[in-house]
Amino acid sequence: MTVHHGKCFCGTVEFTVSGEPEAMGYCHCESCRSWSAGPVNAFTLWKPEAVKVTKGAEHIGTFNKTPQSFRKWCTVCGGHLYTDHPGMRLTDVYAASIPSLEFSPGIHVNYAETKLRIRDGLPKMKDMPAPMGGSGVPLAE
Ligand SMILES: [Zn+2]
Ligand SMILES: [Zn+2]
Repeated sequence: MTVHHGKCFCGTVEFTVSGEPEAMGYCHCESCRSWSAGPVNAFTLWKPEAVKVTKGAEHIGTFNKTPQSFRKWCTVCGGHLYTDHPGMRLTDVYAASIPSLEFSPGIHVNYAETKLRIRDGLPKMKDMPAPMGGSGVPLAE
């Protein structure tokens, strides 16, 4: 099984992800923008059991503004790690945190909230795909 190694900005916290992600893409939502301080979030979604913290677990901070998203970061450097989505039973490991994974996005979600239009020909969802609890409504690029 393929294993990718991730770490925070300072290296205090290390983790691995194993296998293949369930989905990859870009999220344009206001929450991702506010949390990341970046215009979009490049996400990779994994079953929670595929993500294992291998070092520095005691230095992981958690914040949940909503019950849908538990955001994790390193309490030493403030670097972001991943976000647990317990309702979907998925963990979003930011693509930037696992550089050895070949990022191959398939979709843009929450495009109604975009501040950075990306004309790459990939599907643009108004919010989330229907199987993930969204409207499934597509938008123009
Ligand atoms: Zn750190
Ligand atoms: Zn988002």
